[in-house]
Amino acid sequence: MDQKVRNIFDSELLRAISNLVCVLEDGRLKYINPAGVEMLCAPDETALLGHELAEFIHADYAELIALGIDAFAEEEAGVPLKLRPINAMPIDVLMRVRALTQSGDGEIYMVECRDISNYIRASQDARKREQRLGNVLGTVRDAILTIDQKGNVQSINAAGERMFGYPKNLVLGHNIKMLMPSQYADHHDSYLDRYVKTGQSDLVNNSKEFEGQHANGAVFPIELTVTEMMEGTQRLFTGVIRDITERKKALDKIQHLAHHDSLTDLPNRNLYIERVERAIHRARRSGKPLALMFVDLDKFKPINDQLGHDAGDVVLKTVAERMLSCVRKSDTVARFGGDEFVAILENLDHADSAAVVAQKVLAKVAQDILVPCGKIANVGASIGISIFPDDGETMDDLARTADEAMYAVKDEGRNNFKFYKDLKGKAD
Ligand code: GH3
Ligand code: MG
Repeated sequence: MDQKVRNIFDSELLRAISNLVCVLEDGRLKYINPAGVEMLCAPDETALLGHELAEFIHADYAELIALGIDAFAEEEAGVPLKLRPINAMPIDVLMRVRALTQSGDGEIYMVECRDISNYIRASQDARKREQRLGNVLGTVRDAILTIDQKGNVQSINAAGERMFGYPKNLVLGHNIKMLMPSQYADHHDSYLDRYVKTGQSDLVNNSKEFEGQHANGAVFPIELTVTEMMEGTQRLFTGVIRDITERKKALDKIQHLAHHDSLTDLPNRNLYIERVERAIHRARRSGKPLALMFVDLDKFKPINDQLGHDAGDVVLKTVAERMLSCVRKSDTVARFGGDEFVAILENLDHADSAAVVAQKVLAKVAQDILVPCGKIANVGASIGISIFPDDGETMDDLARTADEAMYAVKDEGRNNFKFYKDLKGKAD
């Protein structure tokens, strides 16, 4: 070993650095720095000197070591492998080898090993995290898409492919507009552009309901949550998209149940109130008469008693259908409960037109009704009619006057209709 090498090894620099640095002569350790002694868990350098370096390299790398130390010297960037310290766990290192000088027949190499176990652990952890995240993204039911600031799709998970019916390769790199119906797609560029320029958006960091479009053209309701992130200098937006078709259906069903009678599916009293208020508003603006027609079946109770409750239900359902067939589509027929129905007739040319409808209702309701067990039920109806604005300008007044007219028909023998204006001795 020449003096120059010895001097290098005696230098403070080699004593101070934390990497293992050693010199090999004929494959055996000639010098090793204190960090190397520590890394190999030796009590002191004498326990190492004279040993072959291969003894301290993990058996997994035996084939690599068999290539000879000069093979390592060719890899300037170093070779990652595991050291096998004395009575301790293996350590991941990056080993760099440099041929120093020729000395007699044997070659002299300087070997440097940098402990990279923290780095390896960190990258293994990162890989595990990535794998875990990938698994999660693959199993969630929400679509997760990332777009750049031009709207081009950078990533889409498996749920996104299923939800929109496109394989990944047909979406990646394409504009996200392909997944929206035109009413949203037409505004997306300017929306994104405005956000990028001004930071103004009611969507970023928020959830909103929109619509998505499947590859087969079907439009479906979605809830979209968008978050923004920076990847290096690139601005990316991640959208979590939930298909809310089922939720919407359930909500629609609840809404429907809250506003309709479960037996006949006609609007119930709640929806009637909304409809009549709107109808009065429209009649006020159009100046066209509006009629409120209260209908109560005659002698309905005996049908229940004689033919059974189920037969009574069939009668009520049949009357509902027949009443609907007597009015315009824009009119409302509601059931108040029991055998009481009400029709709101709008846009009448003349108040007397309501009489024509009432006559039709009487005639239709009177027709035979086939009930269970092949029996026939017959029922009549008593109808009271009030006209907006003559008989009342509010919903309550119109209801009261129509009810009064209906009871007058009952009193006079049933199965007929009467306008409130024709009542004798009426309240006003
Ligand atoms: P009137 O000629 O004076 O109107 O007498 P009515 O026999 O028609 O009896 P009323 O109008 O006073 O009562 C209606 C009956 O309708 C009372 C109730 O037993 C029955 N009813 C109420 N709701 C239902 C229902 O959902 N299904 C059936 N089958 N019957 C009902
Ligand atoms: Mg009745």
